[in-house]
Amino acid sequence: MDREVLENPVVYKYFKSLIGDDGLKVLEVIPDSEITDERITELVGLDLNTVRRTLYILYESRLMKYRREKSENSGWLTYYWQIKVDELDRVINDEIEKLKKILEQKLEFEDSNVFYSCKYHSVRFVFDDAAQFGFKCPYCEESLDYEDNSLVIDAIKRKLSELGSF
Ligand SMILES: [Zn+2]
Repeated sequence: MDREVLENPVVYKYFKSLIGDDGLKVLEVIPDSEITDERITELVGLDLNTVRRTLYILYESRLMKYRREKSENSGWLTYYWQIKVDELDRVINDEIEKLKKILEQKLEFEDSNVFYSCKYHSVRFVFDDAAQFGFKCPYCEESLDYEDNSLVIDAIKRKLSELGSF
């Protein structure tokens, strides 16, 4: 599989939670063409069970397909696995869209609220809540300070523009 795709943090995170670190190693050596699980095992240096487990998870996520071939002499079944590149693109786009939505909601929340915080406690209140507490921290009674969230907003905007470039 194209290593560059896995360098995308959204894609990396998705696969890490789906197949784990060993699975990621497996994914990295899978070519676009067909390959047997034995060959993957040789390439990746992990045991066959780990490789097969990864392949089945990817199969269940509709990201891999396979075909079986029976040897006429021995009767052995050989599985030829292949990654479904179109499905992979779909998953990647879905994950990016999901993250974009979350970030857009966060941005909306940051943009439309004013925040107050306590310098002794890592708590943050929106205006209405801070007003309800009389602008005093409910934990220590210290006055709440207005919190400039422009850096938070900048960080979200930066992330969004990075995602837009995929
Ligand atoms: Zn406090």
